[in-house]
Amino acid sequence: MKAEMIFTGTELLMGHTLNSNAQYLGRNLSNLGIDVTLHTTVGDDWDRMALIFKQALVRSDIIITTGGLGPTSDDLTKETIAEVLDLPMVLHEESMASIKQYFLVRNNEMPDSNTKQAYFPKGAEVLPNPCGTAPGAIIETKSNKIVIILPGPPWELEAIYDNSLEPYLAKLPVRGDVTRFNIFKLTGIREDNVQDLLNDLDGVDNPEISYTARPGEVHVRVSAHAKTASEANNLIKPLGNEIKKRLKPYIFATDNEKIEFVVGDLLKEKKMTIAVAESCTSGLLESRLGDVPGCSNYFRGGVVCYSKLAKEKFLCLDSEELNKHGTVSEWAAVSMAENVRQLLNSDLGLAITGVAGPSTSENKPIGLIYVALSTPEGTKCRKYKLPGRRTAIRQGGVNASLKMVRHYLQEI
Ligand code: AMP
Ligand code: MG
Repeated sequence: MKAEMIFTGTELLMGHTLNSNAQYLGRNLSNLGIDVTLHTTVGDDWDRMALIFKQALVRSDIIITTGGLGPTSDDLTKETIAEVLDLPMVLHEESMASIKQYFLVRNNEMPDSNTKQAYFPKGAEVLPNPCGTAPGAIIETKSNKIVIILPGPPWELEAIYDNSLEPYLAKLPVRGDVTRFNIFKLTGIREDNVQDLLNDLDGVDNPEISYTARPGEVHVRVSAHAKTASEANNLIKPLGNEIKKRLKPYIFATDNEKIEFVVGDLLKEKKMTIAVAESCTSGLLESRLGDVPGCSNYFRGGVVCYSKLAKEKFLCLDSEELNKHGTVSEWAAVSMAENVRQLLNSDLGLAITGVAGPSTSENKPIGLIYVALSTPEGTKCRKYKLPGRRTAIRQGGVNASLKMVRHYLQEI
C-alpha cells in the first residue's frame, strides 16, 4: 500500500513554519509498515490543491492531508477534496455540538465562521479533535482509496493520530514490512571516520547502516524491516552489537535517549550532586542540565568563566599558572573542575575549556577541547579535537563532557 502526504499552508512554503507534521507522520507510518512514497507541500490555493489531490488519487492508495481545516477563508482542504471526489458537504451534528461546547467551557461566543469546521464530505468518518475545534476525517472512496484529513497544528494532529487514526491504520489489511531501528549517537569523531570504522559492515540492504551528522554529534542508524517488529529487531541485534563494540568510546546516547536526562537519572540513583565550570560553552552545559525537570535534586549550579579574568576571579585560578599553561589546557580544565566542585561543595565538578572558533586562541587549533571531571576518587581530563564549526564544537563539548559523567557514574 502506497501512501503519500499533502501538506497545505502557504506559511510552510514561505518557511515561516517548519513542517514538523511530515516528520511525525513519516515516523509513525513507517513504524506501522505503511510505505510513504511522496510528500507535497502546497499553498492555500484552490486550483493547485485540487490538481495535487487529483494526481495523488491516481498514484497512491492512502492520501493524508494536513492543514487547512481552520475557520478562515484560506482554509480550503475539506471543500477542495469534496469537490474533487464529487461529494456534497454535510453537517456533522456531533462535531457541531463539541465545537459549541469548546467555546462554552471557555466562556466565549462561538463565531459564525467556526460553523464550517463541522461540515464534512458526505460519507466521511469524523475523527474527533480533543485539543481544538478542527476534527479530522477519513474518507474511503468508491475507487478504494483512503483519504485522511488532519488539522495543521501539530498538537491537534498528534492527539487525533493517537486517539483514533493509529487504531484505524493499524487494522488496515495490506500493510508492508515493519521497520525497526537502533541509533547510536557519537561525539568526538567525524562522520567519515565513523564510516571508515564500519566499512566492512556496510553495504547490506537489510539490516542497513546510515549516517547523519548533526551539530556536535554523528548518528549511526541501523535499521531493518521484516513482517513483525520482533523479526526486525532480531535482524538488527547482531549488527547493532558489533557497531556498539567498535564505537564504544564515542557513544554518548542511544535511540531516543537525551544524555542530560540519562546523567540526571544516574545522579539521582547514586544520590550525587554536580557543579560545572564552562569556558567555551558559556552556559550551554548548564542550560542542558537545566532542561531536565527535577534537576534541582542534583544540579548545584555553575560558573561561566569565559575570560581569563573570570577564571581567576570566580574560580581562583592562579594567574601565573594560567599564563604558563594557557586557558585552553589540561591544567585549566582540571583546576576549573576541582575548584567549582569545592566552591559549590558538590560530589562532582565538571569543566570544559576549548577553542570554539572561528578564530584561534593561544595558537591552539579550532576544536581543541579539554573536559575534566573531578570526583571523590580524583580528577580525570580528556582532550578532544572536535570537528565542525562553532555551534558543532560547543554542542560537541557538552556531549563529550556529559558522556564522561555518564561513564563515570556507570562504573562506580
Ligand atoms: P491550518 O490548519 O492550515 O490553519 O494550520 C494551523 C496552524 O498549524 C498554523 O499555525 C500552521 O502554521 C500550523 N501548521 C500547519 N501545517 C503544519 C505542519 N505541516 N507542520 C507544523 N505546523 C503546521
Ligand atoms: Mg492554513
